[in-house]
Amino acid sequence: MAEQSSAASARLDLLNIDQTLTDDERAIRDATRQLMDKAVRPHVADWYEAGALPARELALQCGETGLLGMHLEGYGCAGTSAVAYGLACIELEAADSGIRSLVSVQGSLAMFPIWKYGSEEQKQQYLPGMASGEIVGCFGLTESDAGSDPSSMRTRARRDGESFVLDGGKMWITNGTIADIAVVWAKLTEEDGSEQIRGFIVPTSTPGFTAREVTHKLSLRASATGELTFDSVRLGRESLLPDAVGLKGPLSCLTQARTGILFGALGAARDCLEVALDYVATRTVFGSPLASFQLTQAKLADMTTAFTGAYLMALHIGRATDAGTVTPTMVSMGKLNSTRTAIEIARTCRTLLGANGISGEYPILRHANNLESVLTYEGTAEVHQLVLGRALTGLSAFG
Ligand code: FAD
Repeated sequence: MAEQSSAASARLDLLNIDQTLTDDERAIRDATRQLMDKAVRPHVADWYEAGALPARELALQCGETGLLGMHLEGYGCAGTSAVAYGLACIELEAADSGIRSLVSVQGSLAMFPIWKYGSEEQKQQYLPGMASGEIVGCFGLTESDAGSDPSSMRTRARRDGESFVLDGGKMWITNGTIADIAVVWAKLTEEDGSEQIRGFIVPTSTPGFTAREVTHKLSLRASATGELTFDSVRLGRESLLPDAVGLKGPLSCLTQARTGILFGALGAARDCLEVALDYVATRTVFGSPLASFQLTQAKLADMTTAFTGAYLMALHIGRATDAGTVTPTMVSMGKLNSTRTAIEIARTCRTLLGANGISGEYPILRHANNLESVLTYEGTAEVHQLVLGRALTGLSAFG
């Protein structure tokens, strides 16, 4: 199965893009693919159907392979390039978007804010354990009434002597029910009444913190998604991230995570294409292989061209990240393009499999359903359109 997938991947690479990757990049890609072939692919359809996955065990395995916070330097992190991180995300998401989400949230949304905005003590305390997967983190920004517009959040923190007291709640929090720590963004009220969005590292064992699993999901089922509630959660001074002040703190974390997503979504698309290519070669309709019909070949040609264009854009953004020249607008374009391209490919591949396309025996509808979440989180497609529209016209149409 693994060999078959690799052969199909090579068949899709009509522009020989693989040759432009470095040996290190290919080695990280291959190690991630091997882990997925061994630890995830044989089980993920069942996890998806059950709506549960052994996330803690997977975190340890990902940590052992060096995937957690891999693009960060020091504190037990692998310190790879952004492109290598992106290639790993492709392999993770080719298995399932839920597994890639587990790794993205840990590395880019929970570890990155500590790495970037934390004190030296916070970094020492948390990052090595998070890199190994022993400590799992989550990122709480969205609330039930504040998603695309996080500045309207209601969660509040106030100073009380040497402590902070946190009240409010967060919704749709990946890893929320399995995490040891939550990086929570709240409006901190100062004594003069002014408010600033600040980040807090909240141990999930703190009294007043509760996490409830979000149920009835029809997408990203192989992922823990939580609703967090903070009821007078008392935190020490050491919980505040000292260097993140204002909305730019959480937004910079999202830009990091989107780099993983704009690669990762293409992994789901690639897996659909590989499965569809194998399927049309063996499925006979009207006396001939499905692959021999012009309509089939047109779909395959269009999908592979769209996939290749999106992959090149992702690589360009990854290389710009490594060169230090990336901008949030570039990342928005990549996130918008990759997720839209991937979901269209998944839906078209679904048609090629006919009734089998809707079966959990094949991964295609699972990927398509997962991509609905990927299209929505980390800035919806519409929000990224508005970011690009603002860059093009100089006019903000956000509201
Ligand atoms: P809304 O903001 O209510 O948007 C509804 C619709 O309005 C969308 O189509 C949107 O594009 C559109 N819209 C919004 N603003 C405008 C505008 N100005 N003009 C035109 N249209 C507009 N959040 C976290 O903090 N941490 C996580 O770990 C996390 N994990 C997630 C996991 C899953 C499976 C999902 C589904 C979500 C997760 N999220 C997480 C939340 C996610 O980031 C939000 O759902 C997302 O930001 C959209 O917010 P919303 O759902 O409130 O939609």
